[in-house]
Parts: sequence; structure tokens; C-alpha cells
Amino acid sequence: MVRQKFFKQGNIKPLYGKIADYVKQEKEEKAQEFLTICPKCGAIEKKKRWFWDPEVKESKRKEVTYRLCPGDEAIENQWIEGDILLKNKIVTLVPEQIESLMRNIEEAERHVDPRNRIALIKKNKSFWKVYTTSVYLAERIGRELEKTYVSHVTYKFSKGEKRISVVWEEKA
Ligand SMILES: [Zn+2]
Repeated sequence: MVRQKFFKQGNIKPLYGKIADYVKQEKEEKAQEFLTICPKCGAIEKKKRWFWDPEVKESKRKEVTYRLCPGDEAIENQWIEGDILLKNKIVTLVPEQIESLMRNIEEAERHVDPRNRIALIKKNKSFWKVYTTSVYLAERIGRELEKTYVSHVTYKFSKGEKRISVVWEEKA
């Protein structure tokens, strides 16, 4: 009995038996890969990483599970890591500008890490208090405020640098 051992060059090697089954099974498993989507913000989780992609979300809608992303989970549970006291009077003069500055930073930073979120902006007549779900975001907003306006910012860390209080005020 002559058994074919080699394939002519350029011919595609056919797959027999176990290998073919294995490849088929692997293909099926890949096709069934389902999406985890955050019901609040629409972020998508893949391999333990969260990202935003409207196209992926629409094209593979079949198998979807819903789970809060780390940012919305933190907001839901009020896991606050940072607060910013805006007592600079600029906040009363150009409130929209200040808010959009903070929202723009949040928008950029949440794409780096979904935990970078503003949980709440409490607006009082002469000052605002902003709560963030990460130390990093509060610090980042403080730095940007100081860079954008003639002002002074202080940073106070606590709980082994896991909590930050930022104060934005007028330059002395
Ligand atoms: Zn979310």
C-alpha cells in the first residue's frame, strides 16, 4: 500500500480527521464570542478591557450580555476617590466654560481607563464641588484648571494616596 506522504508544492494541504474537527470547533467558538456591553454608557468589554466602538456594537449584536463598566459601577456605588472644590470666582463668571473643560477631560481620560469618571457636580451659588471615581481624574482636572486660568490649586492625598482632595481658588 502506497501512502501519500508529501503534497506537491503549491497544493494546499488538506486537513483530515482530528485536525479538521479541531479547526472547525475553533471556528465555531470564535463565531460565538459574545459581547459584554455596559447598559449605561455603551462601553464594550473584550478580554477584560473596556472600549468604545459603535461599529462593533452594531455589527455583532447577536450574543450580548450586559454588565456595568468599572466607571459606571463606581458611580452607581458612589466609590469616590477624588473631590475638587471649585471656589475660584471664575466658576461663577464662566460656568459653562468650566463645566465643558471638566467634561472634555473626562471624555478623553475615560477612554484611557473607564474608571476616570465624574460622578457628580454639585453646584452652589458661590462654589462647586466635583466628585470623581479616580484619584487621577481629580488631579488631572486640577492641573488643567491651573494651567488654563490664573489661579491656585492645592492637592491633598489621604488613605495612602487612594483619596485626593483638590481645591481650586484664586491666586493669592
Ligand atoms: Zn459604562
